[in-house]
Amino acid sequence: VKPLSDLAAHCIRCGFCLESCPTFVLTGQETESPRGRIYLARSADEGVLEWDREVKEHIDTCLGCLACTTACPSGVDYEQILEIARDRLEREVPNRAKQSLLKGMTSPRRLRIQLLLGRLYPGRRIPQFLSKWLSGQSPEAELPRMHPNASYPPLDEAALPPVRGEVYLLEGCAMRVLFPNVHAATRRLLRRVGYGVRESGAGCCGALHAHNGFLGEARALAEKLLQAMQDDLPIIVNSAGCGSTMKHYHNLFEEGPERILPRGEEHVGPDAGPGLGPPWAEGWRSRAFDVSEFLLRQGLGEVLSRGRLDAKVAYHDACHLAHGQGVRSEPRALLSSVPGLELVDLQESDMCCGSAGIYNLTEPQLARRLLERKWRNLVATEAEIVALGNPGCHAWIEQAAREHGSTVRVLHTVEVLEEALNPGKST
Ligand code: SF4
Ligand code: SF4
Repeated sequence: VKPLSDLAAHCIRCGFCLESCPTFVLTGQETESPRGRIYLARSADEGVLEWDREVKEHIDTCLGCLACTTACPSGVDYEQILEIARDRLEREVPNRAKQSLLKGMTSPRRLRIQLLLGRLYPGRRIPQFLSKWLSGQSPEAELPRMHPNASYPPLDEAALPPVRGEVYLLEGCAMRVLFPNVHAATRRLLRRVGYGVRESGAGCCGALHAHNGFLGEARALAEKLLQAMQDDLPIIVNSAGCGSTMKHYHNLFEEGPERILPRGEEHVGPDAGPGLGPPWAEGWRSRAFDVSEFLLRQGLGEVLSRGRLDAKVAYHDACHLAHGQGVRSEPRALLSSVPGLELVDLQESDMCCGSAGIYNLTEPQLARRLLERKWRNLVATEAEIVALGNPGCHAWIEQAAREHGSTVRVLHTVEVLEEALNPGKST
């Protein structure tokens, strides 16, 4: 059991993290920095401060981008501190609006219905309502668009390697509704390196709940996922936030009951199902792979060298890939394997774009400032394609492209790679 104060005690207050923190960079305030937030959370945990609205305000403005964990020389586990603090604050100062939003977003059926109904109310009428409800501020995020599934030509089986194994693919919640083409491209690329997908029917991994203060719900969703993916196969994840959460599932289970229990529920313990609890959660870490990690290891680079895509591409590091999983070189290596593709440098490529799960709904003004900063950096690259690996960043940066009347295409890395192997077919 690691109480919040023990985790926070590793902070030596050196301040090396400050300049990496987007909210500190924007505001210059200590209370909007990692060091300040750790101090507030520790003080509340030790009873020096109350878990009240004032503390919540500063914890709420954190993007959860984890840039501070990359910068910290003392190895402070800021992610756990943030998740525990948010969970505690949700108990003391509950935000029912956020809870219902998450319920709607993490059920593919509900999300699809909501987005279809949203078409009846064009413009920003629904975002306006949501934003006022969640933050009291004017909305910045538009209703996300459901992308069509591109009609790729059938794969030429004769030209493919023999099937050498199976994997699970996390289809998730929002990803499957908003970006079905990303899953289609992922399946094709897996097959191109000899892997088939075993269907699991698994849904939400609990990432949005874990990041937003609902650890009990996150744990329940993690257990459900386990039930659906019991065989010891690799699990391929193409959404950075989900992959980062799954690689850290052990934290969800190793903490004390106070941390992981849904409010008012009793801990069911390891007897709740086969293999549940810390040993399973530990094993999960070695089974979950970001799609770029897995494809690179399985030799997709060689396959891509036979494709072609004449385009200038800028790669945006999603926070939960770069800072959450340390996955930076793999997507770049795959993109660089494509003949004709010029990978250009993007300034501040690993600075958060402001999407951050539901942050662009809960903190629209700060999110907008970060989006505009990201957009300026992207424009400076003169890239024709922005490649990335997370649905939140995808929808948010795509909105910027629309708002600026730009022809820049925003694509998941796997969409770019699959396009390179289907000459003349753009997604
Ligand atoms: S979180 Fe790390 S980098 Fe930041 S002040 Fe604490 S010890 Fe220093
Ligand atoms: S997670 Fe991101 S926004 Fe939050 S304190 Fe760390 S660097 Fe700052």
